[in-house]
Amino acid sequence: MSRFLSKRFIDLKPYVPGEQPQDQKYIKLNTNESPYPISEKAAANAKEATTRLQLYPDSDCRGLAERLSQFLNAQNGTFLATENVLLSNGSDEILNFAFMAFCDEKTPAVFPDITYGFYPVFADISNVPYREIPLTDELRIRGEDYVQAGGTIFIANPNAHTGVALSRKEIEEIIKTNPDNVVVVDEAYVDFGAESCVNLIEKYDNLLVIQTFSKSRSMAGARLGFGVGSAELMRDLNTIRNSTNPYNINAMTMAAGIGVLEDEEYTQANCRKIIQTREYVVRELEGMGFTLSESISNFIFMKHSRIEGEWLYEELKKRGVLVRHFHQERIAQYNRVSIGSRQQMEIFITTLGEIVKGRVR
Ligand code: PMP
Repeated sequence: MSRFLSKRFIDLKPYVPGEQPQDQKYIKLNTNESPYPISEKAAANAKEATTRLQLYPDSDCRGLAERLSQFLNAQNGTFLATENVLLSNGSDEILNFAFMAFCDEKTPAVFPDITYGFYPVFADISNVPYREIPLTDELRIRGEDYVQAGGTIFIANPNAHTGVALSRKEIEEIIKTNPDNVVVVDEAYVDFGAESCVNLIEKYDNLLVIQTFSKSRSMAGARLGFGVGSAELMRDLNTIRNSTNPYNINAMTMAAGIGVLEDEEYTQANCRKIIQTREYVVRELEGMGFTLSESISNFIFMKHSRIEGEWLYEELKKRGVLVRHFHQERIAQYNRVSIGSRQQMEIFITTLGEIVKGRVR
């Protein structure tokens, strides 16, 4: 730390992203990326946008916002307008905006004790208090715990690390019982089997849904996310955006995003493949004696009663398979494994089988 760092940041503990090795040495199953490449149409659009890189991109992201609202309407049976969506540099950015806009000394952030590890960091950097509500022993969010929670609620649905989702009805109860606070539903993993809350937006002015192009849409490297909510909520978030980085979406990403939305069949086909592969992986792991949370995401969360979590992570890494281990006490026995291609997951299962055989006799 330099002697110039503001006192505000002296104790700040930054978010630690998953390892991103830059060689091809590993089967990379640690950061829930898509194993499939970006759609060809999206790639062609991005390339075409390079001819205009001397110009700033459209700060309002109009073309993409228009397509996105139309896309969401077709998907959810809603009548949303461009004013109801706001694009961001990955969904991390709009989550940060939401902590800045809707939390303060008197309005703490409220989220589960086991969830996306960036939430406490967003709270800390904005200097807002937060309250963590424990998951049940089965690692589930209990909706009743969030009735009149007295703060801005952040719920990842499906939840991060566990992949377990609440139903739309359960989320709606939380929204209804917190009418004077914003409920942020982070739907980063919604496309792999969960119910979206986008179609509740016209009914509740305190609902903000956040999604990303990073997972089901194969665009993690391009950084594109978005929020959907009432025009008033979006204006607030836009004020924060325009006060930090008005050109937050670069021209290539904007063009690629439009291409991806025009190629929804490709996205859907990839989601189906990931769901099928997940089902295969779950069967195999249960056969080996692993316990799994009921994930309906593009990852699984697994533990074995006779194998230590961190040790297993290290053994897999030695053999070229990278998964994610968290040190947090309640989940230290677990590892989170992204669902890759069928071929990658067959290698994962074979490698794991060898480790388990050597350990459990
Ligand atoms: N929300 C959750 C629950 C996540 O797991 C992630 C990915 N790490 C994000 C948001 C952020 O993803 P991105 O910024 O790539 O959209």
